[in-house]
Amino acid sequence: MKLLFTVVYTCLLSGTINFLQAQTGGRKPIQTIIIDPGHGGIDPGAPGSKSTEAEVSLAVSLKLGDTLAKAWPELKLIYTRTTDVLPGNKPNKDAALKYRADLANQSGGDLFIAIHCNSAGRHAGGWYEKRVVGKIPRTKTVKKGKKTYKKTYYEYQYENVWVENKVKGTETYVWAMNKNDDKIRSVGKNQVDYTGEIDSTSTLTLPDPSDPTEKVRMLVYAQNYFRKSLTIADMVQEEFTSAGRVDRGVKQRNDKGIWVLQATGMPSILIEIGFISNTEEENYMNSEAGQAEIVSNIFTAIKRYKDKLEARSKSSQEPAETPKSF
Ligand SMILES: [Zn+2]
Repeated sequence: MKLLFTVVYTCLLSGTINFLQAQTGGRKPIQTIIIDPGHGGIDPGAPGSKSTEAEVSLAVSLKLGDTLAKAWPELKLIYTRTTDVLPGNKPNKDAALKYRADLANQSGGDLFIAIHCNSAGRHAGGWYEKRVVGKIPRTKTVKKGKKTYKKTYYEYQYENVWVENKVKGTETYVWAMNKNDDKIRSVGKNQVDYTGEIDSTSTLTLPDPSDPTEKVRMLVYAQNYFRKSLTIADMVQEEFTSAGRVDRGVKQRNDKGIWVLQATGMPSILIEIGFISNTEEENYMNSEAGQAEIVSNIFTAIKRYKDKLEARSKSSQEPAETPKSF
């Protein structure tokens, strides 16, 4: 009886929601969100002093999911992984990347959010460097033939100097569609200290723009999802900034590390929530308070993005996410 009531109630409720949706322009723009914690299993990602990128990304991703589920119980949430494994238990990074994209596409997601940590420098935390700190003049006696004379030389003093790994801040990536987009700051500016997602061991091939199938897919992405990806990426960075984090900006790349972004048929972003190579940020990202703040920032950005799409969908009386001409 109780079950029957629940079923009837659910039907009535969903009927009401459908009716409301019909009144407000059809399908809700954000029904399914894919959360993709970076790396996992045999791929720990960037190493910190006491944690790995894979661990931190997973912890923050799960908390983000909890927050989204509480705020919008009707939202369908899909994780690419919920434990310390490569997504889909795949044997290598490339297979796992493809699995992430396939899962997102098969679930008909409206938004794809990858969570990663950044890394820079020689070593997490810092490193010792030998530096000259002074020179002491010394004399020695030199023999030349039968003559002896004194010669001055310098003894250099070295010290092992601790170099702190100071690079910090957050950045959000979108797939590079148009390198000349003036909204996006160039990666080049920070190239010196950047190590990030460059993955030389990957055999994954990047999409070939001259391949007709790839061309169509990239065009669809460009027309339908690129602007939206930029919009939410901007919002994420704005929220981080308002929390006092260092804003390294919205950036575009088209390397293997963010291949998964363009392979998903939906707006997609990759958030570097902080530098695991910076002790202060590693501690922050591992702390309850830090994780709560990061989650709150990302959640607020998603909410602003969702509100914006819903407002637009209401005013246009059209489904917001449906491509118009494909
Ligand atoms: Zn990563």
